[in-house]
Amino acid sequence: MMGRSPEERLPPETKTISSKGTFGMTGAIELHHKRMLQLCLARAEDSPDPSTKLGALIGKPGGTILGTGCNAFPPGFDPTPARLTDRQAKLDFIVHAEMAAILDCARLGFSTNGTILYFAARDAYGHVWGGTPCVRCCAELITAGVRHIISPPSHFMPDRWFESTEKGRMMLFEAGVTCEIVEL
Ligand SMILES: [Zn+2]
Repeated sequence: MMGRSPEERLPPETKTISSKGTFGMTGAIELHHKRMLQLCLARAEDSPDPSTKLGALIGKPGGTILGTGCNAFPPGFDPTPARLTDRQAKLDFIVHAEMAAILDCARLGFSTNGTILYFAARDAYGHVWGGTPCVRCCAELITAGVRHIISPPSHFMPDRWFESTEKGRMMLFEAGVTCEIVEL
């Protein structure tokens, strides 16, 4: 992460929303987005992953929440300590929070077309990060019809995700999905 400014990691169309509400965003809308991201962090606490807990929610532009998710094994698949300390097992078995939120909507019968995805992560040290979802989640979010993504800055995102999120950012940009960074 060192040597890259946060701005270099944002899609070209992304606006950085400061806590003072720059770019004309009204205080009420900005506060709403912050609350939604706080809800993501609360949902993230359900994740059994000891290293990174990521929460996501899908909402309508008007604010209605349709579905939520966190990074976790599928329901009924036991998150044993052996599995949670095995990186390959986690890669194989964990459903990412963003996909879990899409599937929550599917299970509940809500369309994800034209929706907003919020997501936020917290690492084992308590650092909160966001930025762009991984490339697989971006492909899935685009296909689900999500049109806008809101997250905190990516400053504390682990370096191992950088390449994947850069590819995801490229996909989102080409597909016309917009991103917005909101500082918590
Ligand atoms: Zn992902």
